[in-house]
Amino acid sequence: MGNSLNLFQGMRRKKKNKVKKGHDEVKSYDTESKKRQKTTCRFAESLIQPEEDHLGSGTRDRDITPPSADHIEEVQQVEPSPYLSEDGLNESNVEVQPRNKSLEDFEFLKVLGRGGFGKVVLAELRGTDKVFAVKILKKDELQSYQNLYQTLMERRALVLATEHPFLTQVSCCFQTNDRLYFAMEYMNGGDLQYHIARSFRFTVSRSRIYAAEIASALMFLHRNGIIHRDLKPSNILLDADGHCKLADFGMCKGGILDGKKTDTLCGTPLYIAPEILLECKYGASVDWWSLGVIMYEMMVGYRPFVARNEARLYKSILQNNPLYPFWLSRESKRILKAFLVKSPENRLGCVVSQGQEEAIKIHPFFKKIDWELLEQRKITPPFKPKITTKRDTNYFKARFTRQKLKLTPTDDSKIKPFYQKFFDDFYYCNPNIDC
Ligand code: ADP
Ligand code: MG
Repeated sequence: MGNSLNLFQGMRRKKKNKVKKGHDEVKSYDTESKKRQKTTCRFAESLIQPEEDHLGSGTRDRDITPPSADHIEEVQQVEPSPYLSEDGLNESNVEVQPRNKSLEDFEFLKVLGRGGFGKVVLAELRGTDKVFAVKILKKDELQSYQNLYQTLMERRALVLATEHPFLTQVSCCFQTNDRLYFAMEYMNGGDLQYHIARSFRFTVSRSRIYAAEIASALMFLHRNGIIHRDLKPSNILLDADGHCKLADFGMCKGGILDGKKTDTLCGTPLYIAPEILLECKYGASVDWWSLGVIMYEMMVGYRPFVARNEARLYKSILQNNPLYPFWLSRESKRILKAFLVKSPENRLGCVVSQGQEEAIKIHPFFKKIDWELLEQRKITPPFKPKITTKRDTNYFKARFTRQKLKLTPTDDSKIKPFYQKFFDDFYYCNPNIDC
């Protein structure tokens, strides 16, 4: 393991190919308790693997020290809990939740994907022909301040996502003693990682529409003070019409508005921005870097920065300029170069004198895009997934869909009542989705 490896720490999304070191969060935490346990991520494996995987997380060190008062306050800022807030102590102030779905309402059919904390499964709403993608997280793995923050942040981002056409819609959130469930619309077109691998590369016009839809989704999140921080092809899904939707808000950070920045070291190595590696304070610029990497991958067919081990990968991200094949159009090269600028202040989408994100919309690469029509979903996607039934899983990896589906009971006595309280108002029901 190189030195760089020791810089990184595991967290909620600790997978073989993910990193996170909570500087900002840790700072306040450490003042109360200096017992933070460090774990390292196995980057090397993620680099050797041709795809980013959602494999099991392996062993994890967890910090189960109860959060401090500061902690509780910050988690509450993500999603105020009536149980824990002062107002909430007065019973009459506790909001009455509408009747929500529960585990018994769903029949699980197939595994669609897997992450460090659980899995995403295709599920049928019993007594109907409606299907959903249900993301399941194990509570016993969430017993730390960071994991709680990220989970409540994911819920908050999903609720906000209901206002945008290119963000994955949540239908409802519910829980059992040992698990949390996000029932989302089933994006039966699969994820972009699958499609890039299958097609090798996309045409410029297909890449342009996907890039525009994702850019629109990012601009919406950024306007609302949220940065995604884990933009990569496996987190971009296609719906039945072939439109893109951004998914997986498990690494989002909120409150990034009015020049506020963060400095948490996190992301997926292949898509991580230089300013994160340099441990600088950063904002929305990191998402535009990742979009540049994805657009390169879509148009060129391979990744701009690759290396045999993680140390070389980071060196390459920090020092090398990618090669641009001669057959790439001028506009394509221009936009890739503009997103892959190492210094965040000069990156497309971040330059104040250019109107920051407005500059993306008027870039020559997007000249053919009518952004209003795009946001009304009126631009026909260049590829329509071939779907015969609502529950088709043709676009998901067989190594997931063929897996035996079993929810192993976890020992809920391991979950401290203190942490359970944070999920008291986890329930959510999207009024716009009939489920
Ligand atoms: P993780 O946080 O573990 O990465 P994700 O939310 O990214 O979890 O989901 C893992 C995988 O599950 C995705 O890459 C995708 O293939 C699949 N998936 C997630 N959400 C959906 C959805 N709404 N519809 C269809 N597939 C989904
Ligand atoms: Mg993901």
